[in-house]
Amino acid sequence: MRDVEVAVIGAGQAGLSGAYHLRRAGLAPDRDFVVLDHGAGPGGAWRNRWDTLTTETVNGVHDLPGMPWTRPARPRPVNTAVPAYFAAFERAFDLRVRRPVRVRRVREGPATGRLLVETADGTWSARGLINATGTWERPFWPYYQGSRSFRGRQLHTAGYRGAAEFAGQRVVVVGGGGSAADMLVDLVPVASAVTWVTRRPLDLMPGPFDEERGRASVAVIAERVRRGHLPGSVVSATGLALPTVVAEAVEDGRIALTRSFDRVTPEGVAWDDGRSVAADAILWATGFRPSVAHLGPLDLRERGGGIRVEGTRAVADPRVHLIGYGPTASTIGANRAGRTAVRELRDHLGGFRTATPTPAG
Ligand code: FAD
Repeated sequence: MRDVEVAVIGAGQAGLSGAYHLRRAGLAPDRDFVVLDHGAGPGGAWRNRWDTLTTETVNGVHDLPGMPWTRPARPRPVNTAVPAYFAAFERAFDLRVRRPVRVRRVREGPATGRLLVETADGTWSARGLINATGTWERPFWPYYQGSRSFRGRQLHTAGYRGAAEFAGQRVVVVGGGGSAADMLVDLVPVASAVTWVTRRPLDLMPGPFDEERGRASVAVIAERVRRGHLPGSVVSATGLALPTVVAEAVEDGRIALTRSFDRVTPEGVAWDDGRSVAADAILWATGFRPSVAHLGPLDLRERGGGIRVEGTRAVADPRVHLIGYGPTASTIGANRAGRTAVRELRDHLGGFRTATPTPAG
């Protein structure tokens, strides 16, 4: 068992921001704090995004603190460009991320006030915890009658690797969020038929995504997590920014946009009014849930299914901060949350106890 002041779980945008601010607060990496990450290498969830999601087509990746990202001159897949940037960041600030290490659970330690972070690589005992585990590892598959009977292929956004494998196929895309839109951009030129199914009429973002809209949508999600509800997706608060190619394809009928079906059949999907659509593949762009099962022993969950969070602090246990969670689940929000979490943890713990002298300020 190793003692640290703070354990950071996850080294995506959120965890790296937290680690950077711990370092700035005078904590030494791998001695005063530890960063544990399940990924095979740097990059967080960006490592797993598909090849056609590029530095040009993605909405925008915010800089990490203290090291602006030099965007490549020509478009590059985000699944290599962002990991390269994160790797350089980890090196520049000597963050010594330990990976691949999966945290199995976090529980109350026998010593007063300490949390035990248990992994296959051993246990860390910490006074504070920054949880930055994202959502990628918990894809959400809604239940539909008949799903198992489908003879074609079903996959979730988390398993999507590009449209090439759907060339000439009839594809049903389920979901009204940003991932569905990103995949439709790819699929329209290659699939033989595309049906886009959304639960509610499309909720489009009115006008550009400016600072004011950003603030308003963050406030909506912050209120949800303050009440202990599941955060919901960012798009559910902002509305969807529909790529022009997708809007045009809906307009001219290359994408058949329709409301949710009632069941899955061996051949495709069907509605109770007798309609059906035949499909070779169903793509579930139905979102993700926070990866927080390892925090189960701390009993943080509310009846609403979520963890009540004020700012970044878990209301039920102020030693625990969740960043990249709810209103901070974007690259810009994750950045800010790292700073807030470190400041609040330091205040809550009555200052950090470091093995090295702490600089003033
Ligand atoms: P992640 O990047 O998911 O990092 C979490 C890390 O924690 C991972 O490395 C994981 O391996 C690790 N981990 C998880 N569980 C454990 C465990 N038990 N033990 C140890 N480690 C663990 N946001 C934007 O701002 N701009 C965009 O253009 C944009 N595009 C997007 C496109 C898609 C398709 C999707 C799905 C999301 C997009 N987002 C975008 C959202 C953005 O990617 C995330 O909000 C942000 O990157 C999340 O960072 P994170 O650090 O919270 O999580």
